[in-house]
Amino acid sequence: MLKDKEKFKEMFLDRIQTIYGVTIEEASVTDKYMALSSLIRDYIYRNWVHTHREYDKKAERQVYYFSVEFLKGKPLGNNLLNLGLKDVCKEALDDLGIDLESIENIENDVGLGNGGLGRLGACFLESMASLGIPCHGCTIRYKYGLFKQKIIDGYQVEVLDNWLRNGNPWEVRKTDKSVEVKFKGKVRVNNKNGKMAFIHEDYESILAVPNDMPIIGYRNNTVNTLRTFSAEPKRTELDFTLLSREEVQKYIEYKHSVESISEILYPDDHNYEGKVLRLKQQYFLVSAGLQTIIRRFKKKGGMMKNFHEKVAIHINDTHPTLAIPELMRILIDEEDIEWDEAWYITTNAISYTNHTILPEALEKWNVDMFKGLLPRIYMIVHEINERFCKELWNRYPEDWDRIRNMAIINNNYINMAHLAVVGSYSVNGVAKVHTDILKNQVMKNFYDFSPYKFNNKTNGITHRTWLLKANPKLSNLITDAIGDKWIKEPSSLIKLTSYSQDSSFKENLFKVKKHNKQILADLIKREYNINIDLDSIVDVQVKRIHEYKRQILNVFNILNMYYTLKDNPDLDIPSRTFIFGGKAAPGYYMAKEIIKLINSVSYVINKDKIIKDKLKVIFLENYRVSLAERVFPASDVSEQISTASKEASGTGNMKFMINGSITMGTLDGANIEIRDAVGDDNFFNFGLTVDEVLSYYRNGGYNSWDVYNSDYRVKRILDSLIDGTLFGEKDKFRMIYESLLNNNDQYFVLKDFDDYVKTQVKLQERYKNKYKWLEMCTENIANAGKFSSDRTVKEYAKHIWKVKEVQVEK
Ligand SMILES: *Cc1c(COP(=O)(O)O)cnc(C)c1O
Repeated sequence: MLKDKEKFKEMFLDRIQTIYGVTIEEASVTDKYMALSSLIRDYIYRNWVHTHREYDKKAERQVYYFSVEFLKGKPLGNNLLNLGLKDVCKEALDDLGIDLESIENIENDVGLGNGGLGRLGACFLESMASLGIPCHGCTIRYKYGLFKQKIIDGYQVEVLDNWLRNGNPWEVRKTDKSVEVKFKGKVRVNNKNGKMAFIHEDYESILAVPNDMPIIGYRNNTVNTLRTFSAEPKRTELDFTLLSREEVQKYIEYKHSVESISEILYPDDHNYEGKVLRLKQQYFLVSAGLQTIIRRFKKKGGMMKNFHEKVAIHINDTHPTLAIPELMRILIDEEDIEWDEAWYITTNAISYTNHTILPEALEKWNVDMFKGLLPRIYMIVHEINERFCKELWNRYPEDWDRIRNMAIINNNYINMAHLAVVGSYSVNGVAKVHTDILKNQVMKNFYDFSPYKFNNKTNGITHRTWLLKANPKLSNLITDAIGDKWIKEPSSLIKLTSYSQDSSFKENLFKVKKHNKQILADLIKREYNINIDLDSIVDVQVKRIHEYKRQILNVFNILNMYYTLKDNPDLDIPSRTFIFGGKAAPGYYMAKEIIKLINSVSYVINKDKIIKDKLKVIFLENYRVSLAERVFPASDVSEQISTASKEASGTGNMKFMINGSITMGTLDGANIEIRDAVGDDNFFNFGLTVDEVLSYYRNGGYNSWDVYNSDYRVKRILDSLIDGTLFGEKDKFRMIYESLLNNNDQYFVLKDFDDYVKTQVKLQERYKNKYKWLEMCTENIANAGKFSSDRTVKEYAKHIWKVKEVQVEK
């Protein structure tokens, strides 16, 4: 019914009047947003319920994807697009004198995640809904998402992200499906007729309330679910008049401590309280999630001994690893199943994705802390460890080093990655090279012990969000050339290959890019009052700020270009616009210094008249999904310059590629597969390889002072960080200077500098040949299909989860 414009108008107006009690003239943009969103939500409700019925009827197995992050961005535009309602909605609102874009703009990003890992979860959910894969997302309903970034005087300042301030029109609260999660207390062991029973007593009880958000498939009647849990006190109906002052005070403290669990994504864990809170969040999520899954499973007549055949539990990184002991607990303590059978069910239900090999990101929990918070779960982890170590002993008698190295509990710490590998039937990395590093280095012992568990699933992005939605002009151009099959089957983008020699196609591609640059330039003018040259190379590095991602290397090339131009202002090079964006973790001081450095360089260069506007540097504040959708379509160059071996996959690289930008990259993560797909001629590769980096690490690194002493460009740039010549103040960036020289440049910035600069020069020469450049763009788009998350989730479904797609009929 909403497909008809007149009907759409009528229903929209009716909603404004009945729900908000205002006329269309009186309604605020927020009223209009709420009315429109709730209208769409109600419109899909039938299909939502229907999808779940069809899954229960037809799916042999269903997947639950647990992740502490889902970085969705703004739901409205995606939902309208996937429902096929975008055009009619726009026209109907136009008739009423309302601009759809202004409504979309006031929607808050659903920012329940940090970066790549959370965005991957969101891309997977979109792809799975569009393919009809029966999968449900599970996460925490954080009251505050990832902080909003403000730049004040060049520094990052963090502001609370109160995304629920106006309510969330997309979610449906399911109070009746709430479950109880238990913390602390004691475990009493009861020995009844030789059978042990474990009774958890004196615990603190917390209510987990589910809220469901629809995940709408692309024009296929399918609506999947993202379930988010909020933590609430168990009894809210307390009659305060009957309580003493102390009791009221105690209740308020209890209420606050409960609500803090779902208050904020990744609370500061530099102190003990913060660590406990994170552990609480992790257990809260898996306990609540598993209980609702099992309750529904049993209600539908399922037998627990078949649980693993019907249900697949996927853990995205180690944060939800407690799903393993929690499932054991439920099977043993509540379902009365013996250990061996419970272990069989658990290890055939759970699969695990590893996302990083950075040692600082591998989670470990202190045993005493863990025991105090989760006494029964600790007993189970302890028992899993005992049995696993016995098995190791049988396999490797007396090889104590190996056993200690592989143990789940060691040195008073619980190693979550070890628990995840031992308790699951599949362990995957997220790009070929990352999986190889897991198998041959980081998890070599585990790979030797159980090689059949290990497999690779190279990440992907949903091309419907990152191309169809973010870049409508390019989408139309592609569809005009090869038809619209690519929207459902991204591999058919390969048909564009023949257009790489088609000059009219390339001319149109050029126009599209320019149009997108104009949109971004307008934004930059509006927000920062900086003019950018639409004919310049738009060179972009947007991602979290981290030393391993090497924003510093990018800055050093910019400074080198700046000095070169200052020495020779008439140098014949294409002008360049360098764009940065990204948040630093609040406690990561070095990353915050890097932000300040970028802003200082931007300040110096943008106002320098000598270089004749050949260079501009812009730091975009508050990088997030909705801003990213503006950035990728306008970019020419994609900076993917991590130290080889450090970036497990990267997914930003894929978003650039599908929007026709050319990668300047190291052979790291999925960059390697991107280069393999497009060929050497369509990719700018530089720097140390994974093997070279790992070999340096084995031999204690290299001497960065040697580079400083032998390369005058490096010396000049490094000196300018501390001598006051560029930034007016002595020792301004001493922290960065020290880390590169006296701390021996852990990330090989100086080592890769020369090759990076050379490759940048090669790139700018190539840009001068417009048709050659556009040929490269076309090749990149044509080969981007394999980096769609449609391909990735199909691989998960077939090889890990063993689930089939379900077509939902109307
Ligand atoms: C894709 C994406 C990321 C991940 O980018 P990488 O370059 O792979 O690190 C981070 N944040 C947002 C908002 C994204 O859309």
